[in-house]
Amino acid sequence: MSQEFRDDRIFVAGEWRKGGGAPIRSVFAAEGVENTVLSGASAADADAAIERARAAQADPAWQGLKPHERASYLYRISEGISANIERIAWIQSRDTSKTLAETRALAASAAGTFRYFAAVLETSDDLLTVPRGDYLTASVHEPLGVVAAITPWNSPIASDAQKVAPALAAGNAVVLKPASWSPLVSLELAHIIEETGLPPGLFSVLPGSGREVGDRLVRHPDIARVSFTGGTETGRALARAAADKLIPVSLELGGKSPTIVFDDCDEDLAIAGILFGIFSSSGQSCIAGSRLFVQDSIYDRFVARLVEATRALVVGHPFDPRTQVSSLIHADHRASVAGYVALAREEGGEVLAGGGAPDAPDLAGGAYFEPTIIAGLDNSARTCREEIFGPVLVVMPFSGVEDVVAQANDNDYGLACGIWSRDQRKCWQVGRAIRAGTVWINTYKQFSISTPFGGDGASGIGREKGRAGLRAYQRQKSVYTDLSGQPHPWARWPAGA
Ligand code: NAP
Repeated sequence: MSQEFRDDRIFVAGEWRKGGGAPIRSVFAAEGVENTVLSGASAADADAAIERARAAQADPAWQGLKPHERASYLYRISEGISANIERIAWIQSRDTSKTLAETRALAASAAGTFRYFAAVLETSDDLLTVPRGDYLTASVHEPLGVVAAITPWNSPIASDAQKVAPALAAGNAVVLKPASWSPLVSLELAHIIEETGLPPGLFSVLPGSGREVGDRLVRHPDIARVSFTGGTETGRALARAAADKLIPVSLELGGKSPTIVFDDCDEDLAIAGILFGIFSSSGQSCIAGSRLFVQDSIYDRFVARLVEATRALVVGHPFDPRTQVSSLIHADHRASVAGYVALAREEGGEVLAGGGAPDAPDLAGGAYFEPTIIAGLDNSARTCREEIFGPVLVVMPFSGVEDVVAQANDNDYGLACGIWSRDQRKCWQVGRAIRAGTVWINTYKQFSISTPFGGDGASGIGREKGRAGLRAYQRQKSVYTDLSGQPHPWARWPAGA
């Protein structure tokens, strides 16, 4: 594909300029080569972006827009993304080593997110609520101000869109800090947004160090809300800083999601769903179904079939349309995944499939890791408790509903869960008993922008998507208007009244 990277500048409040921070190196880990080097943003760049954002957000040119006028910018952003799917997909595949099929889908999903929140904005009503006297009571919603959006590297444009679209729709300005491993597609989004004529200042993209730029954003007095997706430890640190300022923060964090296979399931459907749930995106997915519980009555046969299916997955280059499992994002990340497989062996686990880098000579230069299945561990092992964020599945047996609900819930995370059974009533009851933000029954990793998404416990606080996703970026205000024209009786005024 003949595409090129743009220049090395960052986007500060409508201005393309060199950042004052340390340079950021984008790599194509699938081939072990450098894509480009960007000038990274500094804390001073963050200050400048926030100052301009504050002014642009308060400007009547933005605040005075009717909802349908504000929505028109989001429709144009959506169209701009749709018109550039191939370029966005290429950039994102080069930056993250994801397959083109996946990055095309992520770009299409981002376009859909902007379109959806434009529609939500145009169709959301403020409320007249029930009064308890002769007055009108209204519940209205106003923008918060300047929003800091901080995103991870695994699905950059989709994560960016899930924050930027509702935040702009709600009437805010947004300063976006993408992950240092995947800065390029967020800058491409800046080009698209710039072309819509959105007033300068309302949107900035600051690739730069999380510890410097991200931290500055969160602590800056003019940031009114933080929307974060990333790791649990980073999320905890952000939440502490937001608590000091008493500002709202939403945290979409990690996961160690259970998939439960009952002996009355359709095994072929379950195997296909499990493969997709853990090994698509090379396992670098917050919702990856990384803990598999199989009912003991079918355990041996089912796991043998799953191992066979896993070995048949095509590991390959992200631009090869046959590829199912591509390179990991970075050689350092592969080292981390390999470290967990070594830990699993130390803990007494047996590697049933994969377990290391593939042998194929044409993949030797990349950060590939084979789809891996580990058995023989107890749910309390570190390998079963901690997020690996790679193509590694741990498999454990269970005896019945009570046992599996207890094991599935025995984990700090609470992001997602998959259940496979032909018994819909059992699926429903188990789904309700599992602590997770999302439950998939006889399916996995299906998404709709209309359906809220988020986690419980160590998987985070708050929900994105859905109609309420717009309100999460607004301040609710209650307004009481007297209709009686009568003085309050408590005052006994005017005298004698
Ligand atoms: P991460 O290390 O927590 O980084 C996420 C973002 O936070 C990056 O932009 C990072 O910048 C920034 N950051 C780091 N330290 C910071 C600080 N002290 N203050 C402010 N910002 C800071 O996570 P990641 O490795 O990029 O992403 C993987 C994690 O994201 C996994 O745990 C995954 O489960 C989670 N995730 C969750 C969801 C969800 O919806 N629940 C979705 C996707 C991913 P730098 O890159 O410069 O360090």
